[in-house]
Amino acid sequence: MAKKQFKTESKRLLDLMVNSIYTNREIFLRELISNASDALDKRHYLSITDDTQRISKDDLTIELSIDKENRRLIITDTGIGMTSEELENNLGTIAHSGSLEFKKKLEEGKDVEIIGQFGVGFYSAFMIAKMITVNSKSCKEDQAYKWESTGDDGYTISLSDKFTAGTEIILTLKDNTDTENYDEYLETYTLKQLIKKYSDYVRYPIGMMVETTHKKDDSDEYETVMEHQIINSMIPLWKRNKKDVSEEEYNDFYRSKFFAFDEPAKTLHYSLEGNISYNALLYIPTKAPYNFYSSEYEPGLQLYCKGVFIMDKAKDLLPSYFRFVKGLVDSNDLNLNISREILQQDRQMKTMAKSIEKKIRGGLEDLLKNNREKYEEFFQSFGLQLKYGVYEDFGAHKETLQNLILFKSSFEDKYVTLKEYAERMKENQDLIYYACGQSIEQINLLPQMERLKDKGYEVLYFLDDVDEFATLSLQEFEGKKFKSIAQGDLNLDTEEEKQEIEKKKEENKDLLSMMKETLHETVSDVRISSRLKSHPVCLVSDEGVSLEMEKILSQNPEGSNIKASRILEINPNHPIFTTLQKLKDTDESTLKMYTSILYNQALLIEGLSIDNPVEYANQICDLMSKMN
Ligand code: ADP
Repeated sequence: MAKKQFKTESKRLLDLMVNSIYTNREIFLRELISNASDALDKRHYLSITDDTQRISKDDLTIELSIDKENRRLIITDTGIGMTSEELENNLGTIAHSGSLEFKKKLEEGKDVEIIGQFGVGFYSAFMIAKMITVNSKSCKEDQAYKWESTGDDGYTISLSDKFTAGTEIILTLKDNTDTENYDEYLETYTLKQLIKKYSDYVRYPIGMMVETTHKKDDSDEYETVMEHQIINSMIPLWKRNKKDVSEEEYNDFYRSKFFAFDEPAKTLHYSLEGNISYNALLYIPTKAPYNFYSSEYEPGLQLYCKGVFIMDKAKDLLPSYFRFVKGLVDSNDLNLNISREILQQDRQMKTMAKSIEKKIRGGLEDLLKNNREKYEEFFQSFGLQLKYGVYEDFGAHKETLQNLILFKSSFEDKYVTLKEYAERMKENQDLIYYACGQSIEQINLLPQMERLKDKGYEVLYFLDDVDEFATLSLQEFEGKKFKSIAQGDLNLDTEEEKQEIEKKKEENKDLLSMMKETLHETVSDVRISSRLKSHPVCLVSDEGVSLEMEKILSQNPEGSNIKASRILEINPNHPIFTTLQKLKDTDESTLKMYTSILYNQALLIEGLSIDNPVEYANQICDLMSKMN
């Protein structure tokens, strides 16, 4: 029989797994039992929805047996089983992202101790087995198949005579060496401990023949007999009393059930009675999965009805801005026979989704208030999603989210909430100032920043593309409007200063209009600036589309002709201004050249490109030559 080769990715992972001197190798049992439990979930669901597949709940079981003589450990389930194609597809490739992430970490040479955090699946059994044989019969087929592999050299698939539906996994343990001993996995005592530790909450009985000692009838003597025992308590974690569940148990469940590899930033475990009753166990992650911001990421909560698994990713239970939440809900009120399509329309689902949203929001607010450090860690991963949420649906969710978003600010290099900003605004300040840019350093160099800092105003740094769009949806916070420091009137001046500017504007009317004429189509106005201190010029835009938005929109073909109206502002206190005043009466053509240079400089400072860089370079060179 021809051997099939593992897919390359899988081969690499297997090598790593087989050869890892990994202290936590015991997790293989957790992984195999969790696969068996999933297969039983699927069988149970099928039994409820398909009359030809009925099976009594009592017959859904997991069984462990030991064959000491042949050094074998056997794990059998009466689950959904696998067809030969499924055996090939599921066990010949890496099935899920957890494995890939795990492999990456191993290759990066990360601490092997963290391996226990990954859902590494079926392959982990090669840490203790020199050969794995899988006999499986799918519910949907009459023929059973056998998959077999020694891990290093491909696998074979052949016919099997297994006659009941389900899967039997036979692990032939590795031989003991001077340093490694695998015998413990042939001891009921060890296996019992492991089941208790990792799989106690599995909702199907995990049975095993266990040696027990009894007192003989009518005598003081003891005898040892083999007895069939159910090892796990079968109470799912989410049905247990909150105070009886340790943080470690919650976290372990999170990682093994949802293929997570971080610690949750917050765990929400609650039950609700009312219009609709349900239990929920929700996790707010700390770190974003590598594919979170791509369409590959599948959001959703696991859905159970009366303890029966219904579906893996019920995405209607989570609003898109909380799509990072992982977890499950178990409701007694949903109809078990409900089809998956109808489920989406279900009124009860909507009610549940609403209350879940409230809980998550409450959880996040609580985290922000009571564990700022954790919250900021969470925000670094998922803040972008929250800010998109503010903007999404024309700002429909801004009330929910506005207190959850953070920005870095010019006061300290720290995150602030909008509330914190509002609370420490200056007495007469009525605007929330922000500045857009690629980095804090770049924003600090903006000519406009200087005066704001001088006047003691706090400026929020908008570093993500979405930030300004989000404030566009918000419009204001607690009655204070948002204001870009590069747009419109900043309202920084005292009455006196305002009058001063007016006067200068009047005196230099001709100069300003000559400059405007020089720049004709490119700017909508040339103005005396009140926002500059030591810099000569800056480019600002009027209310409406900002220069920053123009940059972002221009990346999108549909937005490429949306332009901000540009205004060139000149600092009347800068020496260049005096030069310009003089040129107006003496040398009009040099005035024109200077105007064009200043405009191009303003564009460059803003991070925008200039229309004719060659001309600009030549002009500067001319000036430099004249100096000598
Ligand atoms: P994961 O369980 O994380 O998807 P595994 O490598 O552990 O990854 O398993 C791959 C796939 O093989 C599973 O998704 C499942 O479809 C199938 N599988 C594994 N064990 C069983 C089993 N006992 N019964 C039925 N299918 C199984």
